[in-house]
Amino acid sequence: MTEQTIPFIDLKSQYLAYKDEIDGAMARVVDSCGFIQGPEVAALESELSEYTGVKHCITCSSGTDALLIALLTLGIQQGDEVITTPFSFFATAEVVSLLGAHPVFADIDAHTYNIQADLIESNITEKTKAIIPVNLYGQPADMDKINDIAERRGLFVIEDAAQSFGSVYRGKKSCGLATIGCTSFYPAKPLGCFGDGGALFTDDDELAAAARCLMNHGQDAGYRHSRIGINGRLDALQAAVLRVKLAHFDEELAARERVAERYSAALESSAFNPPRILPDRTSVFAQYTVRTEQRDTFRSFLKEHGVPSAVHYPLPIYRQEAYLKLWSNKIESYAASCPNTEAAAREVVSLPFGPFLSEEAQERVIEAIKSI
Ligand SMILES: *Cc1c(COP(=O)(O)O)cnc(C)c1O
Repeated sequence: MTEQTIPFIDLKSQYLAYKDEIDGAMARVVDSCGFIQGPEVAALESELSEYTGVKHCITCSSGTDALLIALLTLGIQQGDEVITTPFSFFATAEVVSLLGAHPVFADIDAHTYNIQADLIESNITEKTKAIIPVNLYGQPADMDKINDIAERRGLFVIEDAAQSFGSVYRGKKSCGLATIGCTSFYPAKPLGCFGDGGALFTDDDELAAAARCLMNHGQDAGYRHSRIGINGRLDALQAAVLRVKLAHFDEELAARERVAERYSAALESSAFNPPRILPDRTSVFAQYTVRTEQRDTFRSFLKEHGVPSAVHYPLPIYRQEAYLKLWSNKIESYAASCPNTEAAAREVVSLPFGPFLSEEAQERVIEAIKSI
């Protein structure tokens, strides 16, 4: 019997669950012909601000642009150094390099996959301007420790919350855990739109005004430009979709939690290292990621059973070709100083996951793993 392949992330079921609301919201925008910015975007921003408890929300065209706008807002420029994790999606470091600044990588924790706060300080030089912790797979990094270091050393912190919208750290929502928080609404993220989208969050009035200006060509008023910015605007159609999904988001987080609990209970005594979530924070499980030294065998076995899997991420950022060209001589020293990153890149594997993953599909994933 050939079984149907389980969807890795079931966006179709999610759309069908809210179809009437989403179709109505999109029709409203199309009918208004107000496609860029406007009331849908403004309403979304105040709803996101309320949800996260952060004073200002500036939506933008992607998570990558949110990070770029954050760096521009904080004045990061050529020659500056920014300390971050080498175990993330490429964009985290890419935007730093795009500005002519240099990412400096500190190793991750072997269990949470987030940057080790106590490795940050030894990487600070007189050129260091900021730290970008990433809340990988949806679990916040050690933000209190990181903010303490930043405060003592006069640095900014940008929270890369692209995977952690909705998670909670010591009673505070992700996106509000640093100088500026950045998130992504890429369709596969916990809160996703129907294309590209993102947002910045800050409690600081001046930074918020600067970020909003930079997001829209450095424009203060019609055709008056006080800064060099970008076209980083969010479309009204994406805002309309996000408003519908945000209204259902907490139910989805509860469903995510249930799937994670079920997987973790089944994998607890296995050799596959279920995710470890620290007691003072929650994860939104942007990915449900396990690890094994026999990753290729594990993945082909799952595939034979109709269970897709993915690897987030197969290469430490410092091993990417773009960086080989920039500074090939640093690769080996990074590899030596980041053993946890090296091992994670070889061993991690993400399982099918999402609030709409049926119980039957969850059971099939668990049975497939147990039969290994
Ligand atoms: C997805 C992601 C980004 C980039 O977001 P986009 O919306 O795809 O541009 C940045 N950082 C991390 C950690 C991500 O997962």
